[in-house]
Amino acid sequence: MQAPPQPELMRLILDKIKAKGYVGEKEVEGIASRLRIPSSRVFGFISQFDELPQRPYRARIRVCTGPACADAGAWAILEDLNKRAPSGVEILADPGILRWHSPPAACIETPGDGARLAEGLGPDDTTALVAALTNGDLSAYKPMKDISPPRVEAVDGREPAPWTAAVEEGTLPDSWGPDLIRRVSEQPEGVIRRIVGNAVQGEYRDRGRPPPVLLCDSAGPGVENSVSFAASLLHPRAVVAGSALAAAACGARKLVFYVPCSEAEAEEVLASAASELLSGVGIKHAFFRGPVGIPCAWDIGRAAVTSGMMLWRAASLYGWKGTRDGDPSLAVLDAELAWRLPWMLEKRSAKEEGWEGNRLISLAGMDAKPRLLEIQPGVGLQDILDGMQGSGGEIKAVYLGGITASVTTPLLAGRESLEDVGEIVLLDGLTCMPRWALYLAWFAERACCGGCVPGRTAPAAAARLIQRILRAEAGEETMEDLGALLTDAGGLALCPRLSQRLNPILDCLRGFGDEFRAHAREGACVAGSCSPAAEAVTHGG
Ligand code: SF4
Repeated sequence: MQAPPQPELMRLILDKIKAKGYVGEKEVEGIASRLRIPSSRVFGFISQFDELPQRPYRARIRVCTGPACADAGAWAILEDLNKRAPSGVEILADPGILRWHSPPAACIETPGDGARLAEGLGPDDTTALVAALTNGDLSAYKPMKDISPPRVEAVDGREPAPWTAAVEEGTLPDSWGPDLIRRVSEQPEGVIRRIVGNAVQGEYRDRGRPPPVLLCDSAGPGVENSVSFAASLLHPRAVVAGSALAAAACGARKLVFYVPCSEAEAEEVLASAASELLSGVGIKHAFFRGPVGIPCAWDIGRAAVTSGMMLWRAASLYGWKGTRDGDPSLAVLDAELAWRLPWMLEKRSAKEEGWEGNRLISLAGMDAKPRLLEIQPGVGLQDILDGMQGSGGEIKAVYLGGITASVTTPLLAGRESLEDVGEIVLLDGLTCMPRWALYLAWFAERACCGGCVPGRTAPAAAARLIQRILRAEAGEETMEDLGALLTDAGGLALCPRLSQRLNPILDCLRGFGDEFRAHAREGACVAGSCSPAAEAVTHGG
């Protein structure tokens, strides 16, 4: 018999954390008895999310291990802090800090003081951080709520799209209002056409099965320097208005805004916009607070958390088609798309104006402060790299992140479309690609729920093979084993998450085979940046 969903579960857990700072054994028992479910089920649910503290702590440091921070040395900082942190300080690997930060960065949480950002951390900065934690004086680190997204830049200097131009004043197009909602509800095709694809995962009214709930995700699928979170903070009114249009088009009865549980300010700005814009438009709305780092495919993870379901159960229910399959309880919309929708429906032809497909992308790496770019349709990776000529040294490889991810080289940039890409990370000539592949394997370990055997084992197995290559402990045949593992494991998994995280590792192996070979044969680092003595640890969850 299947366990019924428990949509109240996350709210009850977060209420306990708010009241006590963590959710321990006693709190788990209390929640279980209130919901009349076994306490093991509550405990299992909480344990899926590192963000939710399960014991009292003096401070928690979440080190960002997103691709930009990993390239800048985040894993070494994590190791260092793990060895040196004062007692009572918990150190965690975070899949990505949402707010804009210079890599590598860490979020410092202390009970009663909220979260602060330590960014651009060098080798000596961990000493200062440990001293600040020991002395209890964190005033040198900026409160996280004060970190704003940067100004949006256009790639080729073209005029910004109207939604970007509207950020400063917080305005909406004249056409926005109850009449537009009604029109969209009667003729949803225009909106449906724009939101189908990766932007909304779910069933639609025109396919006969409207989702009861449309979930607008303010964090989005790519969490490090999140463009969706930037859009939510830059223009919350537009995110709310666009979500309402999408809900009307899908035929959803309710609109729910998913907000990170550690970002109360984001909920405040969205709630204020929702109470202003959604009264009288006939769409109910609510807010759902939850973790950002959900180790599962994007839409499946959000569906599982909001319904209080174990991730593995949601993955086995929805499978490779995501929440489109079966009988979806909700559709998931990315806030970055919601932000643009009100203008995309303007009567004048957005296509003729040439900005209908403009969207945001984050650009980071090469130790630079990340940038927020508005790219036009047709702008490819080559255009972005061309625009960077002469700044910041040689670009050796490029990581393209989003729901899926890949690694490419500047030589192949002309072939790369940026259609589903939310994050670009540039890697310079000093990046050892086998070592970077190891980071990606650790990243994959933490990105999977462990609900299927390939997802539970393949990332750790890949990490071990890469470590053997780095240490010159194995011959070139290990590269073949690694290639076979990375090619085959994803297809055997319950959901697409595993292959989404293994593919960029395979790209590293295929695109930089000479570097892997040099390490495997004689422990030589072509990039000249590492010794063969790679870490013997695994960072899996
Ligand atoms: S691939 Fe398997 S382990 Fe990974 S998220 Fe999906 S179900 Fe979980």
